[in-house]
Amino acid sequence: MDWQKEDLKYIWHPCSQMKDYETLPPIIIERGEGINLYDINGKCYKDVISSWWCNLLGHCNPRINSAVKKQIDTLEHVIFANFSHKTVITLCQELVKVLPKGLCKFNFADNGSSAIEMALKMSFQYHYQTGNPQKKRFMALTDAYHGETLAALAMGGVDLYTQLYKPLLLDVIRIDGPDCFRCPYGKHCAGHSEQIDISQAENAECCCECFQKAEEAFEKYGDETAAIIVEPLLQGSAGMKIYPPLYLKKLRELCDKYNVHLIADEIATGYGRTGKMFAFDHAGVSPDIMCLSKGLTGGYMPMAIAVTTQEIYDAFYDDYLKGKAFMHSHTYAGNPLACSAAIEVLRILKDKNIIEKANKRAIYFNKIIKEKFLPLENVGEVRSIGLINAIELVKNKKTKESLDYTKRTGYRIYKKALEKGVLLRPLGDVIYFNPPLIIEEKDMDFVTDVALRCTKEIL
Ligand SMILES: *Cc1c(COP(=O)(O)O)cnc(C)c1O
Repeated sequence: MDWQKEDLKYIWHPCSQMKDYETLPPIIIERGEGINLYDINGKCYKDVISSWWCNLLGHCNPRINSAVKKQIDTLEHVIFANFSHKTVITLCQELVKVLPKGLCKFNFADNGSSAIEMALKMSFQYHYQTGNPQKKRFMALTDAYHGETLAALAMGGVDLYTQLYKPLLLDVIRIDGPDCFRCPYGKHCAGHSEQIDISQAENAECCCECFQKAEEAFEKYGDETAAIIVEPLLQGSAGMKIYPPLYLKKLRELCDKYNVHLIADEIATGYGRTGKMFAFDHAGVSPDIMCLSKGLTGGYMPMAIAVTTQEIYDAFYDDYLKGKAFMHSHTYAGNPLACSAAIEVLRILKDKNIIEKANKRAIYFNKIIKEKFLPLENVGEVRSIGLINAIELVKNKKTKESLDYTKRTGYRIYKKALEKGVLLRPLGDVIYFNPPLIIEEKDMDFVTDVALRCTKEIL
């Protein structure tokens, strides 16, 4: 059977111009192991983007596999209104131990975008029920990405995804967010190529001068705003843009001052991706609502959670006829199979000290990427946080002018790297690595060599 032909006969792939598949047909994967994916011809691909940032501990991780197998023979799923099960309760018990302080009430969904929707509705309803019905707008940062459903999309600020749908979207208050690579204040800061350790960002030259944009917006719109949503420290889809923890700290204070909820979209940044369990841990403050997905089940099962505080929960707690309940549901909420994977992920992270060890290897990873890429004429910056490293290609190193996007440089590098067995999938002209936390040095050497060779060939 010609599986590629059959695929194209039926399937409309996500985030793709399907015509591109004429020259790059879908790669049919047979099995996975660790960071390796094997296609039906036995060819190996190194998955250094964690299959869209979700695979945390390698494909077909034996411990997660056996946890899910055990669960499936016991209970596959059960309605989650009025019913519960030990697996989901255990998961919440374990999560509370690692979440930022104050986050203790869990509302389940089955994908990241849905968790965002839930957070927005929850915030609006909280204010409505606590005497602030005028708080019905949301704030978000430029270059944000929060998912694809309409409200989540409205929060996003990446034109590639949102532009066409503008007529359908909520009117969001857009704040000019941090842009450390092209800092309009001319400061040097976290994520900058000269800087490795983001914890030192506060001592660096930058004092988050850009935060004044947020202050201005709060002054103007604070009273009508229910919540601000942010991707903490790392704006993934915008090209792995990184900003300092100080911004979050200041935002926490501002939100308290104006009674605005701080929603943390940790869908991509959670679970050790930034070097700590959650990106908010770098700032030492807690959000009011945190959205989790992606790494939550190790990349095994679609599951998402909007976790919130006792205070928000309490605003919904009353006699039924008061009409204060959160009337929101997803059929697969609390799915036991997903929960079984999620519990095992937490256990592995702890037993094997995964994040601490990954941070040690991250130093090596960043070092070789800088050595290899910074000398290239078209590399504007190498930025990193945790194991995530991004290489921004530019036309001109000095002016930081972007490459001509119609040349599709990133895409061509992607295709070339696939030939050589590395799955990169750049964001526009930003090549990045966001590998499973278990990646080892020899694979780091291999994938960076391939990426370098492909970049040089295409440029
Ligand atoms: C992936 C992602 C989402 C959306 O999650 P889906 O499961 O794809 O709906 C939202 N926010 C961020 C930061 C993400 O990376």
